[in-house]
Amino acid sequence: MDKIVALARRRGFVFPASEIYGGLGSSYDYGHYGVLLKDNVKARWLEAMVRERDDIVALDSSIILHPKVWEASGHVGGFSDPLVDCRTCKQRFRADKLEEAQCGRKPSKRPGETPDCDLTDPRQFNLMFKTRVGAVEETGVDVYLRPETAQGIFINFKNVAQIARRKPPFGIAQVGKSFRNEITPGNFIFRTLEFEQMEMEYFVPPDAARDWFRYWVDERLAWHVRYGVRESHLRVRPHEADELSHYSTETSDIEYLYPIGWSELEGVANRGTYDLTQHSEASGTKLEWVDAGTGERFVPHVIEPALGVNRSMLTFLIDAYDEEVVGERERTVLRLHPQLAPVTAAVLPLIAKDAAMVEKARALFEELRRHFSVEYDDNGAIGRRYRRQDEIGTPYGLTIDEQTLEDETVTLRDRDSLEQERIPIGGVRARVADLLTSDWRSPKTA
Ligand code: ATP
Repeated sequence: MDKIVALARRRGFVFPASEIYGGLGSSYDYGHYGVLLKDNVKARWLEAMVRERDDIVALDSSIILHPKVWEASGHVGGFSDPLVDCRTCKQRFRADKLEEAQCGRKPSKRPGETPDCDLTDPRQFNLMFKTRVGAVEETGVDVYLRPETAQGIFINFKNVAQIARRKPPFGIAQVGKSFRNEITPGNFIFRTLEFEQMEMEYFVPPDAARDWFRYWVDERLAWHVRYGVRESHLRVRPHEADELSHYSTETSDIEYLYPIGWSELEGVANRGTYDLTQHSEASGTKLEWVDAGTGERFVPHVIEPALGVNRSMLTFLIDAYDEEVVGERERTVLRLHPQLAPVTAAVLPLIAKDAAMVEKARALFEELRRHFSVEYDDNGAIGRRYRRQDEIGTPYGLTIDEQTLEDETVTLRDRDSLEQERIPIGGVRARVADLLTSDWRSPKTA
C-alpha cells in the first residue's frame, strides 16, 4: 500500500486533505490524474448500468433530504458502529475491527494487546453527520448528510415509475457523494469520511428477487473483471445472518485481495420490500407498482449493487501497479485498462528544439485532443518522458521523430508490451479508437 500512496502523491492522483493545516483524518483531495481516473470509473459504471441497457434510468437526488427519510429508513435508530474507547491511550476504535486497528503508543500495538490497555465496553455510535438547515440557529431544523444515495432513489420511486413508464423489473442508478463519520484505521482512500457512491436499486416482482440477486452478483463481478481486475484477486463472500444490515435479507460482498487482506470492494444486497414499505408508512404515499391495465399491484423487492468510487479507484490502482526491469532499468507502470487510464495517449516530439517535429507533434495533439484525453510532453529525455507516462498508466505513446518528417509516420509504443510500430500519422486517430475498444486483459500474472 505504501508504494501506491507514494505514487498517487508523486504523480498528483491523491493528496491528504487540508495538508497545510496538518491534515484531516480519513479525508483526501484528488489531483488532476485522480479526477480523470475517477471520472473514467464513473463513466464505465454508468455505461454498464444505463447506456448499455434498456431497463435502468438515471437519477441525481439531493444530498440533504427531509429528516424523516432517515427515521423511516432506520438510519437514525440503526446506522451505527460499535465503538470502544481506551482509557489509557484515549483513542477510539471500532469494536468489530480491533484486529485491523493500531493504538497510539509506540511501538504501536493492537488495542487490547497489552495489559496496560483499558478498553470500555462497546457503545453504538451513529455514523451520520448532522447539520442544520435554516438561517437562524434556534429555529433551524436538524438534518443529515446522506450516508448512502439509495434513499434518494426510494423516495423518488413513484416519480420515476410513472414518468419513465417503467414496469418491474427496472432499475434506478445514481452516482453521488455520501458521508459517514467513520472511525477508521486509515487505509488511505479505502474508507473515507466523504466518498462518492455508485448505487443502483433494481425493482423486481417478489417471486423473482432471489434470481435477480444472483444475476446482479454475477453481473457486478464481471464488471470488475471487464475493466481489468484480475479474477484471482476477486471473490464473492455471502454475509452470515448476524452480519446483515438492518434492511437486508441477503447480501454478498464482492471482495478484493487488498494489501490489508480480503476486504469488501462492492456490496450486493437484497433489500426486500423494506425501504418502500417503510417510506409508504411514514410518508402516507403508497410506493407500489400498479398495472394500469390489469389492476395488479405489488410492492417490488429491491436488489442493490453499491460501490464506492474511491474504493473502486484504489482497487484499480493496486491491481494495475507493477514494477519490472527493462534493459537493466527498473520501471514502475500502472497497467490500467485503456478505458480507465487518465491519459489515453501521449504525443512526444523526440527533439523539443526541432521546429518541424514540434509542429507535426502539435498538429497531431490538436487533432487527437478533440476525441481523447491526450497529453503533449516535450520536457526532458524521451526515456524519462516514457517513464512518466508509464507511471500514470498512459497506454499509448506517439513519438514524432526524423522519419516522421520524411514519410509522415509516427511510432506507437504500447505501455504493456513495450512494442513499437510505425503507423501513418493520418491513421493515428482511427488506430487509437480501435485499440480503445479492443478487448484488454491485464498482463500481470502474480
Ligand atoms: P465497510 O464495511 O467496508 O465500511 P459497508 O458495508 O458499510 O462498508 P455499504 O454500506 O455496503 O458499505 O456501502 C456500499 C459500498 O460503498 C461499499 O462496498 C464501498 O465500496 C463503499 N463505501 C462504503 N463506505 C465507504 C467509505 N467510508 N469510504 C469509501 N467507500 C465506502
